[in-house]
This record gives sequence, C-alpha cells and structure tokens, in this order.
Amino acid sequence: MTRVQNRTPLETILSTLESCALRNRESASLHEPLFGGNEWAYVKECLDTGWVSSTGAFVDRFERRLEDFTGIPSVASVVNGTSALHLCLKLIGVEPNDEVLVPDLAFVAVANAVTYCGAIPHFVDCDTSTLGVHPRKLEAWLTDMGEIRKGRFFNKQSGRTIKALIAVHTFGHPVDLDTLSEICDRFHLDLIEDCAESLGSFYKNCHTGQWGRFAAFSFNGNKVLTTGGGGAVATKDKNAGQLVKHLTTTAKVSHPWKYDHDQVGYNYRLPNLNAALGCAQLEQLPDFLEKKRALALRYQNAFAGMSGVRFFTEPEFAKSNYWLNAILLDDANDRDELLRKSHEVGVKARPSWTLLHRLPMYQNCPRMDVSTAENIESRLINIPSSAFL
Ligand SMILES: *Cc1c(COP(=O)(O)O)cnc(C)c1O
Repeated sequence: MTRVQNRTPLETILSTLESCALRNRESASLHEPLFGGNEWAYVKECLDTGWVSSTGAFVDRFERRLEDFTGIPSVASVVNGTSALHLCLKLIGVEPNDEVLVPDLAFVAVANAVTYCGAIPHFVDCDTSTLGVHPRKLEAWLTDMGEIRKGRFFNKQSGRTIKALIAVHTFGHPVDLDTLSEICDRFHLDLIEDCAESLGSFYKNCHTGQWGRFAAFSFNGNKVLTTGGGGAVATKDKNAGQLVKHLTTTAKVSHPWKYDHDQVGYNYRLPNLNAALGCAQLEQLPDFLEKKRALALRYQNAFAGMSGVRFFTEPEFAKSNYWLNAILLDDANDRDELLRKSHEVGVKARPSWTLLHRLPMYQNCPRMDVSTAENIESRLINIPSSAFL
C-alpha cells in the first residue's frame, strides 16, 4: 500500500540524477566540451598566418605543455587516440599473429589497434575497485595459461607469443600500476597505458602514463580536453619519442627539398589548427579538473547511503579526473528502465561499452573468465559529467 505513495528506489535514483545534472538546464549529455578561454584567438591565429596544417608553433607548444603537465619526458601529438595506440603497439614490436592482452571492458579502439597490427586481442577481466585490469586474476590466468620460453611469454593453447598488456584507466580511474608493472615484468610483457580517459589522473601522486613503456592519450571531443580530434604518444624514452615523431610524418628524412623516406611511415601528425585548440584547452585544464571533482562530489553526496545504488569513487591510491561519472545499480534488472526514464527527463545517461568479446569481430578471440566485467556491464550506468555542470 505505502509503495503507491512512497518513491521506489528507481524513482529516487532518477530524481537524484535530475537534481544533480539538470540544475538550470533542460538536458545534459554525457560529456560536452567547454570553450571558455583562448580557443577563438589561437584558431584565428592559425588562419591569419596560414599555419593550419601539419607543422606549426602550436603543435610544439601543445607537446611541451603536455610534457610539463604530465611529467612524462617525451610527448608526440597524433591525429587521434586510436592512432596513438597503434603506434605504441608498433613501437614495442607487436607483429602479425602475436597476442596482446586487452581489458574486456574497454572502448573498441583498444582491440582495433591490436587488430591493425595483425595481432589478436586476448581479453582479460576487470576489478570492481578500479574498473580496470584485475591484477590478481590476471596473474593467476597467466600462470595457468602460458609459459616463458627463451625470454618470451607464450599462450600454451594457441602457441602464439603474448607481447603486451594494454591497461586502460577506465573512465579516468587509475589502475593499480605498481602491481600490474610487477606482473608484466615477471611474465616478460610490455605494459602500454591507455590514458585516453586519464589526462589529469594521478596514481600515488604521479601522473598516469609513466609506468608503461608507452602511453596513449586522446583529445577527442568527449574527453577531458579536446583538440576536435587528436591524441598523443608519451614515453620516458626520448629516443623512442623521436621515432614516434618520425613515424607520424611519413618517416620523411629531414631535408630542405628532397622526399626521402627511410621506412613505412604514417600520416598521423596532429594539425596545427587542432593543436591551437589544444593549447587553449590545456590552459584551462586545472579549472576543468576542479569543476569535474566538484560535480563528482555532488553526485557522491547525493547518492551516499541510498539503497539500490552506489556512486563509483576513485581507488584509494589514486586521484582521478572523474572523466565519466558512473553509478552501479544493485539490481541489473533496473538498468534499462533507468536509462529509458532518464532519457525521458533529459539526463542522457548511457550503459557501459558492450564487452569486447561480444562484438562480432572479436567473438572468437582468446579470453579468461570475465565474470566481473559481465557483472559490471550489467549494472553500470554512466551519468552526465561535463565540467560546466
Ligand atoms: C577515446 C578512447 C580511445 C580512442 O581515442 P580516439 O581519439 O577516439 O581515437 C581509446 N581508448 C579509450 C579507453 C578511449 O576512451
């Protein structure tokens, strides 16, 4: 009887979302960019001077400022995060028929980049405390499934070499990098950090991207900071950083007029026009991060103690950028109804990515037990996270 008058848990969740995300507005998407700084002035400067394309002062400035902000010695900008991942894999020597460990709960670009190398993604489970790779479960799986021969790690079932692990800092929350690095070392795997979502996220007071041999960043329109489309490869190894630059510019040998190319390169360089936008955005990054933490705190307080739902907070060893806020429902059966109702009121909440092993092109790839990822996928909803909310 009282149920008719009292709100159901789902209604309480919905009205909380509305009051947090729709202050003074009709609707809120998951993540929208904010252009409140020098964007117009810097883009205009490109147009006025004619430096719109693949070289220019903004490209260099953007890269140096990213190095300053992240503390990673060498950053090379590229056209998007997917091309950044592709280059990371090339640089560690991933070859056709190798396997690369990839979280099952991740954006499709991660597996696609592996496929571009002719290699095969091998899906691993995630951890409920980070939403990233589950270190202990990975360790047990590697021990069980593979063996080290002549300094290389092999999948005993497929016979293929497993070269690397791509660790994704899911929704901006850092994974347990110390533990994962140690596991990668022990099993002769290279670690690549996918920092596409983690610009401004710190693991034990150091910016993410410093544990992997290479790290990939994205500056797509929905990320913390945008260049329209864009990305970067970051590494501690300055020589490797030079090589990234070389490969992204069709491997052209520097010369005033000759077209000499010393290997198969790529046209992956970020145009100056996009870098101009990036420079203006980077000036506002500390402000974006502060605003995003304030929004996350608002959600955290509003959902605190509520039954049927938990707001996902940063792992204890990390300071997260809270790129995409997420709630976890107790009951997976509520997910689709909440998504439908939230769209009706203008809160453009979304489910997590479809697990990669379910996508048609990746159905037959090797994988471990991914029950945690399956459980999280069934209960997770991303909620509006733009800095200006
Ligand atoms: C956005 C994203 C990418 C790809 O970046 P693009 O710039 O869109 O190519 C890769 N990995 C993760 C985890 C991402 O979120």
